[in-house]
Amino acid sequence: MPVEAGDIRMNTPLGTVRAIAPRDADRLATLGLTTVGELIAHLPMRYEREEAESSIENLPADAVVSARGEVTATRVAGFGRKQRFEAVLHDGSGRLDLVWFSQPYLHRKIGAGTRLRIQGKSRRRGGGLQVANPRWELIDDGGGEPGSREARLRPVYPASEAIDSRSIESCVRSVLRPAIVRLEDHLSPELRRERELPALHDAFLMVHEPRDDGEIASGRRRLAYDELLLLQLGVQLKRAHRERTLAAPRIEVDGTLDARIRERFPFELTSAQEKVVAEIARDLARPIPANRLIQGDVGSGKTVVALYALLAAVAVGQQGVLMAPTSLLAEQHFLSISGMLEGSRVRVELLTGSLAAGERAGVLAALESGEIDVLIGTHALLTEGVRFDSLAVAVIDEQHRFGVRQRAALRTKGDAAGDKPVVPHTFVMTATPIPRTLAMTLLGDLDVSTIDGLPPGRTPVRTKVVGRDKRDTVYTWVRERLDEGEQAYVVVPAIESGGDEDATLRAVVRELESGALSGKRVAAIHGRLKRSTREHVMGRFRSGLIDCLVATTVIEVGVDVPNASVMVIEQSERFGLAQLHQLRGRVGRGARASVCVLIGEPTTEDGAARLGAMRDSTDGFELAEKDLELRGMGELFGARQSGLPPFRVADPTRDLELLRLARRDAQEWIERSPDLGGPEEALVRRRLLRRYGESLGLGDIA
Ligand code: ADP
Ligand code: MG
Repeated sequence: MPVEAGDIRMNTPLGTVRAIAPRDADRLATLGLTTVGELIAHLPMRYEREEAESSIENLPADAVVSARGEVTATRVAGFGRKQRFEAVLHDGSGRLDLVWFSQPYLHRKIGAGTRLRIQGKSRRRGGGLQVANPRWELIDDGGGEPGSREARLRPVYPASEAIDSRSIESCVRSVLRPAIVRLEDHLSPELRRERELPALHDAFLMVHEPRDDGEIASGRRRLAYDELLLLQLGVQLKRAHRERTLAAPRIEVDGTLDARIRERFPFELTSAQEKVVAEIARDLARPIPANRLIQGDVGSGKTVVALYALLAAVAVGQQGVLMAPTSLLAEQHFLSISGMLEGSRVRVELLTGSLAAGERAGVLAALESGEIDVLIGTHALLTEGVRFDSLAVAVIDEQHRFGVRQRAALRTKGDAAGDKPVVPHTFVMTATPIPRTLAMTLLGDLDVSTIDGLPPGRTPVRTKVVGRDKRDTVYTWVRERLDEGEQAYVVVPAIESGGDEDATLRAVVRELESGALSGKRVAAIHGRLKRSTREHVMGRFRSGLIDCLVATTVIEVGVDVPNASVMVIEQSERFGLAQLHQLRGRVGRGARASVCVLIGEPTTEDGAARLGAMRDSTDGFELAEKDLELRGMGELFGARQSGLPPFRVADPTRDLELLRLARRDAQEWIERSPDLGGPEEALVRRRLLRRYGESLGLGDIA
């Protein structure tokens, strides 16, 4: 049974709506539009101005005019390239001559009896009025009285080969009004008034059938606000839920403990580190699990800050864990942390994939019995089958992700405080700073600390971008630097899967050894090497027994060799901006002036822009904003980074004010009503769950 206008709901399938032809419903489906609600949420991307229409007898000469009527005669005149198509248009009030030059084929589309709407410049011609080369469209308005129509803004919809904007427009028109009469608003009239937002059904009318530009802006603003508000509500809801239902061990860091921890650090903390350490100490003192993002540029000294939290846990007889994205980084963390803890009673262990089964079992047993104080390993290894005796602090070292996705729960034995499960305080460290706008959008669930300064004694890295033809010159120059006792990295892009990484890197080593770097000690390192081999190579590089290390991006995080002051990145156009910045962070760690050479031949504009950005800035935050600009919000918001569905209307980089507003409103809302449980909140709750329930993992909250 076809659905009549009066029965249309948002979830009515388009295929069942009487006013929509089955063929159009099929075509809309190719755009992913299968219900009335989806069609109405398919918003115009821009608008075209249509001039006012008047009856033909009232059309002025020498003006842009619009008219409609029926074609009464047509002909093709002239020869060859001079051919033209002529038509006569009548609307009952008068006659208008139309001519299209060099488009004789129009006779196949326009004939006697065709109804047309035209727009173009009018002029006097032989006593009558003529429009040359008008814009035209076929109309199906059943004729009727000639009359005047106001100018209007015509929506232009994202369309496809299967269905064009005009057909979409007519489908929208046939369901819009019946659909929105019953559309309830999830915002109260008071809130709408305060925020100067139109009602939801008005907003839909305003964007689909605007009377003026003001309506477009106003309707769009309401829909964008809704989108941002729902996301913020979801994120805040999740946070409130976490704080209400989970417990964490309270760790009071007093002056004595603070001093004992600091004694282990081989340097004074920078003021930026101090600030973050204080924030961490405040988190730990609460019986609520912390969920904090610690962002700091490459080399800003995040490791000691993390260690501070881990040692605080150990001091009260609990355990800490540090998870790294790669084995190499886990090993690096293990080395530097064991180094700082030498001679203390703190037991630190490394859990990696290369442990023999027996060793692994031993580590796991010692962990569960509480003998191990701090465990270090990769994300993957630490989530399967690992049980702690009493885990109080988890530190997660990320590379390029923003860390909003649900993390596998770390399990601990001593489980519950009253009726609340106990979970560790969690700190996520990232060297990919989150652009401000993105942080505000996504991270309502996380507190953010920023280490905004580098330890003293760093010299900024100079960056050069050169073409492949300069390769020989580059390596001749590298050789001169090595002659001065410096060390270098040469980075080669990851090999496509199936390729032989080892062979590729070794070919580069051989090329350098037999050419520009002959007589120098060159070695390769990559992710597929055995841990012992990798450690051996890294150890030799660190102690200066290797001059030049040829590496894949395994070195991008964590590697810390202050004497290395030269980096060459081959085929640099193949790396992302964040990754290039990470890689470059491996140099500039000592007193020497460091140089990073990007060899590359960018084939795209973006590629060139990335290399240019690297040349012009060493500031990770600035580069992150640039990255956002280059990649667009869409990609950063894509499933890969955040797991969130993309925005349809809002663009947080453009709607920054609206974002702030939505964020504040959501915060106040959740403070007032932490579970959105009120009867008048049922609607907003339902819409929130439908849009973000899955991606934000709100299932167990609802
Ligand atoms: P990242 O933030 O990139 O993880 P690291 O924690 O690896 O940075 O620190 C980078 C280097 O800076 C390390 O060699 C570390 O020992 C050193 N470092 C960290 N903090 C300080 C400090 N306050 N003073 C001097 N050196 C520091
Ligand atoms: Mg680090």
